[in-house]
Amino acid sequence: MKVHPEFSVYEHLPLAILVDFDGTITTRDIGDQIVINFAEPGWEKAMDRFRVGELNVRELWAIEIGMLREEREPAAIARAIEIGLIREGFGDLVSHCHSNNIPMEVASSGMHFYVDAILDANGFGELPRARPEVTYTPDGFGLLGMPEGLRDCGMTAMCKCDRAWRLRRRGYRVMFVGDGVSDECVVSQADIVLATSNLREVCEAKGIAHTPFETFHEVLRVVKS
Ligand SMILES: [Mg+2]
Repeated sequence: MKVHPEFSVYEHLPLAILVDFDGTITTRDIGDQIVINFAEPGWEKAMDRFRVGELNVRELWAIEIGMLREEREPAAIARAIEIGLIREGFGDLVSHCHSNNIPMEVASSGMHFYVDAILDANGFGELPRARPEVTYTPDGFGLLGMPEGLRDCGMTAMCKCDRAWRLRRRGYRVMFVGDGVSDECVVSQADIVLATSNLREVCEAKGIAHTPFETFHEVLRVVKS
């Protein structure tokens, strides 16, 4: 049987890397902490509905962001920087990609104000990123926004499949690195998957080939191979 020529060149395509933010670049989920500590009461009910499958990630996030208050954003940013520890080896991976012209993008479902603040505070302010942007209503309640055509996906707060496809169309083989529920779709689309925490279980349950990791040193090893 003849193989389509696009498949035979696949292995030789240059690599691009998509990296989740919460619980992947950072050691813990910062978005959860922001909601727990800074949102108006009532987010617990939305979380319960999410856990039993009544809400998807996008609906949960829209409700939770609607409970944020504009006047609390500076305090939320300060707290995020304080608790947002970067996973070991991330700086080495960023440097390696930078020196070898490997495109790297942060693909995050988490809100722009804390993602940007943590990246900036740790010297990663130059990294390209896609994430929802929070604006506020005239009476100061949060509004979930999807800049740059991120509004196509009805399931997640930010469609990571869309980010993977953009890189594919530019001729790259896509590696995805992630940890959790907001990564469940894109692991079926990426060419190479590195998974930690809950995402490992998702990959195992769905039979998706993946490499487990605990630090970015292990991710870097796969990139170099
Ligand atoms: Mg995550």
